[in-house]
Amino acid sequence: MEKPILDIAQLGNPILRTKAKAVTDITDPKISQLIDSLIETAIASNGVGIAAPQVSQSFRLFIVASRPNIRYPDAPKMQPTAMINPKIISHSEQKVKDWEGCLSVPGLRGLVPRYQTVEVEYLTREGVLESKVLTDFVARIFQHELDHLDGILFLDRLESNQDLYSEAEYQKRIFDNTATEL
Ligand code: ZN
Repeated sequence: MEKPILDIAQLGNPILRTKAKAVTDITDPKISQLIDSLIETAIASNGVGIAAPQVSQSFRLFIVASRPNIRYPDAPKMQPTAMINPKIISHSEQKVKDWEGCLSVPGLRGLVPRYQTVEVEYLTREGVLESKVLTDFVARIFQHELDHLDGILFLDRLESNQDLYSEAEYQKRIFDNTATEL
């Protein structure tokens, strides 16, 4: 069955700056449909994560779909996983800076500091409360997506505007250099 691929809200759309509402009824078919559509949209756009506000649905839920990549060859390959009403319970002192992009901020890449390790809680789409410790790439995806639920974009987390690159310069200067190391 075909599921709709949703339009992605872009930088400047106020939905991206709005604090999303908690999901109160996990059995609501609208929520289940939203999760299915977000998963399809993440796959179609080659994303490793997508949050409901990015498709103009103001709910506290996102998809994490980590997979190994050139920058994080050891990243786990995950089935796209819905995380509902997610929270950070605790986090490492240490932050690490690494590159992020965003489906809602096309054409730009930024070097973003994030906690290396986060202890998190969320509800699964079946309504089960999960507690997990996430590290490195998956921790980064979680923090990026959680920010979307609070109206925060990776641009807001940059230490300096000098850490912002165009996609073309990123590909030329950063991504290629990393690729040749492998
Ligand atoms: Zn994003």
